Amino acid sequence: MASVKILGSAYATPNTQHENTHFVLQGSHGNILVDCGANPTVRLEQAGISFDSIEHVIFTHFHPDHVGGAPLMLMSMWLMGRTKPLNIYGLEHCLNNLQQLMGMYSWNMWPKFYEVNWHVVPDGDDQLVYAGEDFHITGWPATHFVPTLALRIRDKSAGRVLAYTCDGSPCESLNRMAVGANTLLHEAAGEGFGHSSALQAGQLAGRVGAEALYLIHYDVHQRDQHFGGSSDRDMIGSARQNFSGRVEIVEDFAEFEI
Ligand SMILES: [Zn+2]
Ligand SMILES: [Zn+2]
Repeated sequence: MASVKILGSAYATPNTQHENTHFVLQGSHGNILVDCGANPTVRLEQAGISFDSIEHVIFTHFHPDHVGGAPLMLMSMWLMGRTKPLNIYGLEHCLNNLQQLMGMYSWNMWPKFYEVNWHVVPDGDDQLVYAGEDFHITGWPATHFVPTLALRIRDKSAGRVLAYTCDGSPCESLNRMAVGANTLLHEAAGEGFGHSSALQAGQLAGRVGAEALYLIHYDVHQRDQHFGGSSDRDMIGSARQNFSGRVEIVEDFAEFEI
């Protein structure tokens, strides 16, 4: 059975206990990284995951809290002796910008760099991102400030589905993306254009009849002032107004099954 290992759970501003939101999909045949925190290879090491086990990286959108660590990760993997190819997936907007960013570092001058394969995901509903032995992943547009991929991730061995909203305010394509999902990983940065609250996450989880709702990409500074207290109760209580399944606020290094 496939699982999700959280490497970071913070929204745009991290703190000492919470990196920016990024995570690993762990299958029987390999691992897929979704987005990059500030220092991905260190986070992987802390999580006990070999950087070399990452063969695929999906970038959801070109915001610093999601791609900021990508140049350092690409360089670190090379300096640590990577030889196997790395596959990178994302929307054209994101991959073009990332390639330009790497160009500013003159990475084409770095000798014996491992092979990087770029896979542009078309914008639109139900677009194939990745199909492999463990996972079948499709992309769906999220309503955010830049073109953004929400992900519908099917664990092929168990036939279960994880819906990840990424950053976005409620919209029809997220509703379609999450239909029939067993598990919903939903941002909870707060209500407003381009983002969602825990209440809105609960509404989506209730609408699609998910079993579990995991809240991520939340305000860690506010939460740490009231850890386990009013802020947590507010978020979980808000989510439960429209959803009777399991609700958890994920922490860095938390792990759950799809
Ligand atoms: Zn974000
Ligand atoms: Zn964003």
